[in-house]
Amino acid sequence: MAEFSIIETYFNRQKHTSVDLGVGDDSAVLTPPPQQQLVICTDTLIAGRHFPLDTPPHAIGWKSVAVNLSDIAAMGAKPQSILLALSLPQIDHDWLKDFSQGLYDCCDQFGVSLIGGDTTQSPHLTISVTALGWVDMGQAVKRSGAQVGDYVCVSGQVGDAAFGLQHPNHTLKHRLDYPTPRCQLGQQLKGLASAMIDVSDGLAQDLGHILKASQVGARLQLEQLPINVSLQHLTQVQQWQYALAGGDDYELCFTISPQNYQQLLQQQLDVKITVIGTITTSTGLTFEKDGKDHPLQFQGYQHFA
Ligand code: ADP
Ligand code: MG
Repeated sequence: MAEFSIIETYFNRQKHTSVDLGVGDDSAVLTPPPQQQLVICTDTLIAGRHFPLDTPPHAIGWKSVAVNLSDIAAMGAKPQSILLALSLPQIDHDWLKDFSQGLYDCCDQFGVSLIGGDTTQSPHLTISVTALGWVDMGQAVKRSGAQVGDYVCVSGQVGDAAFGLQHPNHTLKHRLDYPTPRCQLGQQLKGLASAMIDVSDGLAQDLGHILKASQVGARLQLEQLPINVSLQHLTQVQQWQYALAGGDDYELCFTISPQNYQQLLQQQLDVKITVIGTITTSTGLTFEKDGKDHPLQFQGYQHFA
């Protein structure tokens, strides 16, 4: 019975009118908008692995939704709803209240409804969210479309969350706990970007997925990397390491033709975008600084994994 009262108390708030049937029946029911394709993804957060054990429950709720909306955004799709599979070691009402508030705060900010889920007991706190969204038929932005000559762009700033992880008293910890999924930008890039990915494992690694899927390479201008001013006291190599290898930023990395980039700039954007390089024929990732080759020796791209 405890399970049903948890669902009723914390996870059965009002849904949007676009949901035909939400929490409370055996399944949820949605009507697909005409000429749209369903875009769907899932991401699991395990306490101690995907977030520090002392992360406030409100932030855990926010982040478990945000990381999934980021994946929907990276396809150029509009998020609509989420399902929540929650495994709890015990029933802690203070925790559940704050967690559900964080989850609904993120849902509300992006117009998303919680339409169902599953609640179980297990020794480890595990949160699995599935997100659903819609995109115009055939318009999903994949990883495989990058073309030689396209610009490589990234939204916002990269490296913030990794810096926040290592400096928990710094204001950048907020970027780790409360990532902002770039939902509006993702939809604006539909029809303009040739390839897109969200940056969850570090820019170099995630851009690498685009390069591999598209069978191209990229040349990045190190001095163009958008890095927070709070990192300016570090050496350049340390800054680049945060920017290129730090995870958890949930920015969008995309490739776009120079013509489409001009079109994008004519729209009102809710986040800064930066051109950081270009797509090349030779495969792999190369770096330049002041117009010259600048090979980078990292401790390894897995450093912050
Ligand atoms: P069933 O036994 O038919 O699978 P459940 O008893 O697991 O149904 O769930 C009852 C209802 O509550 C369903 O609509 C389900 O989607 C919803 N639900 C269960 N857990 C959650 C949760 N953590 N968040 C949102 N909805 C949930
Ligand atoms: Mg059932």
